[in-house]
Amino acid sequence: MPLSEFALIERYFRDLGARRDTRIGVGDDGAVLAVPPGQEVVAVVDTLVEGVHFPAGTAARSIGHRALAVNLSDLAAMGATPAWALLALTLPRADEAWLAEFTAGFAALARAHDVQLVGGDTTAGPLTITVQALGLLPRGTALLRGGGQAGDLVFVTGTPGDAAGGLALLQERMRARPDAAANSLDALRDRFLFPTPRCATGARLRGVASACIDISDGLAGDLAKLAAASGCGARVDVTQLPLSAALLAVAGRAAAEHFALTGGDDYELCFTVPAQAPLPDGLACTAIGQLVEGRGLTVCRGGSVIDFSHSGFDHFAN
Ligand code: ADP
Ligand code: MG
Repeated sequence: MPLSEFALIERYFRDLGARRDTRIGVGDDGAVLAVPPGQEVVAVVDTLVEGVHFPAGTAARSIGHRALAVNLSDLAAMGATPAWALLALTLPRADEAWLAEFTAGFAALARAHDVQLVGGDTTAGPLTITVQALGLLPRGTALLRGGGQAGDLVFVTGTPGDAAGGLALLQERMRARPDAAANSLDALRDRFLFPTPRCATGARLRGVASACIDISDGLAGDLAKLAAASGCGARVDVTQLPLSAALLAVAGRAAAEHFALTGGDDYELCFTVPAQAPLPDGLACTAIGQLVEGRGLTVCRGGSVIDFSHSGFDHFAN
């Protein structure tokens, strides 16, 4: 017998995380959440549509992970510490094996970040997952895109390009170099299927970064957005890009640079810091360039400017 909507919610979504500051979670008409004194709430929402944000047939565990991860990444970019999530799930059918895997992926990441699922909505239709996440930070400390100034150094976390390389492998748009090891291919696919939101880094950047954005549509496009919001331009040196050994092995240097600059789905942070300000110890990031007077993004190799189309992914382009 197919699962009723009520039974489905009870079985999969009622007990996903627990927090002391949750007054009322799943089960009532709305959630009631206590905001600690002196703190502010940061609210984000993101939708994943099958065939648009992930290939049809992607493992349900990855979909559950990514649906939460993309939201936690937005919170990280604001410097907020995740606290609560709401899940609007549209499913073609109540497939229990799929739901168990989806929930396992969602719950593992939620547990790792002390996030409680406090509400949502469940409907039938084409597979679409919308997650809203709520995070906390001390009043007035949110990291914004628009706080950068010419002269600030530009940093990026992790190794951008891996997720786009992984997606290209999953979609068979890229053939790996013949000498690439199987575990390099697995590593790239994993970066697409199970991205790591940089929440701890985002929180440590409060009071340090002048501006911050997360990389969902490609480093070049997202850095251009940060620069535009900050009223300046940006200059990046491709020789400083932190390319992973796996991406270099699988794609070669030229394609790796292209993935790193234009590929989406990394969910790394790109942020700026005033040139004289010290970075906190142990922050895993790489300096890749600088904000400059003027507008737009300039890409260089060593001293010389190279031609580079840097449009990020745009749902309504072409
Ligand atoms: P209502 O009709 O008042 O919107 P629902 O019957 O849709 O309530 O939902 C009952 C409860 O279950 C609510 O607390 C709602 O937030 C929660 N809920 C429904 N779907 C989900 C879901 N996919 N994930 C988490 N909570 C959910
Ligand atoms: Mg109601």
